[in-house]
Amino acid sequence: MGEFDLIARYFHRPAKRSPLGVGDDCALLAPAPGMQLAVSSDMLVEGRHFLSTVDPVRLGHKALAVNLSDLAACGAKPLAFTLALALPAVDAPWLEGFSRGLLALADQHGCELVGGDTTRGPLNICITVFGEVPAGAALLRSGARAGDDIWASGTLGDARLALEVFRGTLALPAEAFEAARTRMEQPTPRVALGQALRGTASAAVDVSDGLVGDLGHILAASRVGATLDADAAAGLVAAAGTPGLDAETLRGCALSGGDDYELVFTAPAAARAAVEQAGRESATRVTRIGRIEAAPGLRIVDAAGAPVAQRFGSFDHFG
Ligand code: ADP
Ligand code: MG
Repeated sequence: MGEFDLIARYFHRPAKRSPLGVGDDCALLAPAPGMQLAVSSDMLVEGRHFLSTVDPVRLGHKALAVNLSDLAACGAKPLAFTLALALPAVDAPWLEGFSRGLLALADQHGCELVGGDTTRGPLNICITVFGEVPAGAALLRSGARAGDDIWASGTLGDARLALEVFRGTLALPAEAFEAARTRMEQPTPRVALGQALRGTASAAVDVSDGLVGDLGHILAASRVGATLDADAAAGLVAAAGTPGLDAETLRGCALSGGDDYELVFTAPAAARAAVEQAGRESATRVTRIGRIEAAPGLRIVDAAGAPVAQRFGSFDHFG
């Protein structure tokens, strides 16, 4: 199978929403009047971002999910994406699985594959997504203000738990491991929540490198500090009730786990009902985990308000 047969077989589908998709020198997109284009790229490299043994269906899902997560963090609605793919060889079953996982998630979000590039090389997947957001309404990292609440969507830390099981540093019962592994391999981008938070959230970021690190981006961009409730965050680990998982492991995974693809966002305390409404509208759990403060720096405390040692910095994402 040559390059063009491969594209035609696995990646060429008729564009429905875009004026021009795969097959010409460029794709053409038509954002609605008054909208801005939101654009983001994420690369997945074998051995660095995924294990070579991962199911290609799940890898296809994840490659797009991590990109959709960036659109979600901006409050943008997905429109289209491009796929640049380096493959060591033409492996038909792998391509079939990968494209199936990829395009299933794309269909779920009405996000069209409109172009890309295909070449021989070490397995490497680079996706660029395009979304639209009303002009001036994008959620930015720079809008957090002292007094705002800090919220997290969904669950945190489970991908890291699964990674540690793969690394052999901890064990989980089979069922809990499968659930955590699914969170690692098939994250859910919070696209509907991101859009529902427009006009309510003051700042947002998606958690790819770990809560503490990614919240740090909001603090830096907004020139504020924060207090974070380590136990509220640890309570968001889906596997939290599993016997044998101690509180420190749960805190560490929630605070510094990485690969979560949840949204961490801030909103004025007066907007709590609006945030909860956005969560309901998007069928996404939202939980308050801290508070923005004027004093710079991040203070991590336990449920009783006592400082928690910063040893979780050692949970370095794929370090
Ligand atoms: P060019 O030589 O102009 O870069 P190519 O010959 O590489 O174009 O690709 C032909 C067409 O196939 C283009 O429309 C390109 O966007 C599309 N394409 C290439 N690789 C992929 C891919 N992996 N997924 C989707 N479309 C692709
Ligand atoms: Mg090309």
